[in-house]
Amino acid sequence: MGRSTFLLITCLVIAPVVNAKQLAITFDDAPRAANGYFDGSTRANTLIENLSKNKVGRVAFFSNTQSLDKQGLSRMRLYDEAGHLIGNHTHSHPNFLDTDLPTYQEDFLKAHQLLKQFNNFQPYFRFPYLREGETLEKRDGMRTLLQKNEYKNAYITLNNYDWYIEVLFQKALKEGKSVDLQRLSNMYIDVLMESIEYYDEMAIKYLGRSPKHVLLLHETDISALFIGDLAQRLRQDGWEIIPPKEAYQDPVAEYQLNQPIKYNPGRIGEIALGKGQKKELWHYTLNEDYLEKRFQQEVLLLSDN
Ligand SMILES: [Zn+2]
Repeated sequence: MGRSTFLLITCLVIAPVVNAKQLAITFDDAPRAANGYFDGSTRANTLIENLSKNKVGRVAFFSNTQSLDKQGLSRMRLYDEAGHLIGNHTHSHPNFLDTDLPTYQEDFLKAHQLLKQFNNFQPYFRFPYLREGETLEKRDGMRTLLQKNEYKNAYITLNNYDWYIEVLFQKALKEGKSVDLQRLSNMYIDVLMESIEYYDEMAIKYLGRSPKHVLLLHETDISALFIGDLAQRLRQDGWEIIPPKEAYQDPVAEYQLNQPIKYNPGRIGEIALGKGQKKELWHYTLNEDYLEKRFQQEVLLLSDN
């Protein structure tokens, strides 16, 4: 066997290891209401510190500009100054299903005007609730407006209900329950990893490869508390964390479903739907009752009754 053949075979054998699973981390609804475990600036500082301590480079914050009061603005400045990407998530987080196109477009443009001030603002748009318009007129109306403003659709590929774990955490605190943060971290990470692996397997099934993924998270206290734990677990499980701009260079960015849809499971779910999968486009962890049960059992250690 010649040397080049040997090298070729060696490369083929190690290829799956070299081709690490990759994802970018993104936080929606920034600056999100903060009046529970942390105040707003403590949340922001904790999140930034935990990202940097764990050597997570650039992440993205998709902002609702109606929350840019004095406190909200200073929080967004902290993310901006830390070098993270700032993107558009509309002014007031409208639900596109019950908002007409002109109103929705106006809300998007209002946010654009307010976000331009940030050094790390980039023209990426994350649709609230991932809803991109349930009629051709609405969907194409937004596509045209995004194009005109040189925006990219900041789709996600890895869907989950992290926001509902935050709801359960804050509710338990308000009710005076003691919440063990280590157990909460474990549950949060296990739930996220289950849905991450699910959507990656779905991608491999329909694309034949693991794309550069985009993880949806929200700007919450649990994100601030546990993002470092999550980064460590991701790496343990073979994931590499990449900047959002790099993730959006994956060919799945170009994918477009023919027909408009009401509810969007994320880009991998859309691709599966386009190839005929009708069920289980949302992983079973994306369910309030399911998460509440796990929270009671795994965090509060209440028995099942
Ligand atoms: Zn949102």
